[in-house]
Amino acid sequence: MNLVFTDIARMYGTHPTGHHALKGAQMAEVPFIDHAFLRCSNGIITETGIMEQFSPEVQESRVSLEGKWLIPGLVDSHTHLVFAAAREEEFRMRIKGKSYEEVAAAGGGILNSAMKLRQTSEEQLFEDACVRLQIMMAHGTSTVEIKSGYGLDTASELKMLRVIKKLKESFPIQIKATFLGAHAIPAEYKTNRTAYIRLIVEEMLPAIHQEGLADFIDVFCDRGFFTPEETATLLEAGLRYGLRPKIHANELGLTGGVQVGVKYGALSVDHLEHCGPEEVECLRHSNTIPVGLPGTSYFLGLPYTPARALMDAGLPVALASDFNPGSSPGPSLQMTWSLACTQMKMLPEEAFHAITLNAAAALDLCADCGSLSVGKRADFCVMEGKPSLALIPYHFGINHVAQLYVMGRPCSGPQASSL
Ligand SMILES: [Zn+2]
Repeated sequence: MNLVFTDIARMYGTHPTGHHALKGAQMAEVPFIDHAFLRCSNGIITETGIMEQFSPEVQESRVSLEGKWLIPGLVDSHTHLVFAAAREEEFRMRIKGKSYEEVAAAGGGILNSAMKLRQTSEEQLFEDACVRLQIMMAHGTSTVEIKSGYGLDTASELKMLRVIKKLKESFPIQIKATFLGAHAIPAEYKTNRTAYIRLIVEEMLPAIHQEGLADFIDVFCDRGFFTPEETATLLEAGLRYGLRPKIHANELGLTGGVQVGVKYGALSVDHLEHCGPEEVECLRHSNTIPVGLPGTSYFLGLPYTPARALMDAGLPVALASDFNPGSSPGPSLQMTWSLACTQMKMLPEEAFHAITLNAAAALDLCADCGSLSVGKRADFCVMEGKPSLALIPYHFGINHVAQLYVMGRPCSGPQASSL
């Protein structure tokens, strides 16, 4: 199927083909084409250019996007969107002054989600996840990573990963699955952590491998969760099954998560609300991408990831929603973008790259998405009004995306936020 979109007022993110993650100062420059066209074949971009050089081809359908402007589909490299129930009671507790760690100690947090998920059927989890994914798509997300980690026993972790597999088969957008059995120590293993780690290594990983259910492995390496030594054991085991690490690191303190992630070749280390000179130096000598999750800092009142310091050190920075029921219940990357600008002092252009090209790199998908380049998927958001990247994070709290296209086809989603 050959398609050409013409008369586009402006098209942002027209990087040269094969572009990789953008580092430091490179993040501030967004290439664009005015009065443009974009041609695709079977959902893959084959040509971009200015209308003055456009000539129609036989056997192609033409769609005029006159007066509209485009950005690449947004890439959310860190979510927990398969879950059983919202946790608004904990929200109330935290408003009254309890910390995230205190809520977790009182039986809330991840273990609360695990208890509810174990009682929920695969069908129900799938149905609920579909609604959430459609809302994310309506807000411009065309690639998403989804983690397990609310099962914390073999059957329930497999159940979550099968839901993600079914989402992959049911949606046109790109979905990547990450196994996060080491999200927390389940209550029944509280006094025997080693036995739970053994369960992950000896039972969960082989079962997941057999069904081909995961693309990556994750560990919550932090104070009160998994130590760097335990993380090393788990990442080594994951690598034996071909699962590259993407880990939760340094949300609650300077706990060695960045160093162990880099040591095992992690694609990304995510969170980094706590990130000092040693962590920055460690990342500078690696290909690991630091990922900030400003929605979590906003919702929990944590420090923000020091994106400026990371960029000043010449590093590529990515951002993600961390969409989950406990610490970041907001699925919109447009909100992430706005928080990055107002709270992390990232320029609109830098934050744009952090949720497109650099987020694609955090999923090893730079060749497929993250920019409107020849050879990549024709995934893009159509916007109306004055073309301006800065207006998106500036007018926060509204949806700027008029229409998401995935592989050159319009995808509609509900505008209502019935999460
Ligand atoms: Zn997370």
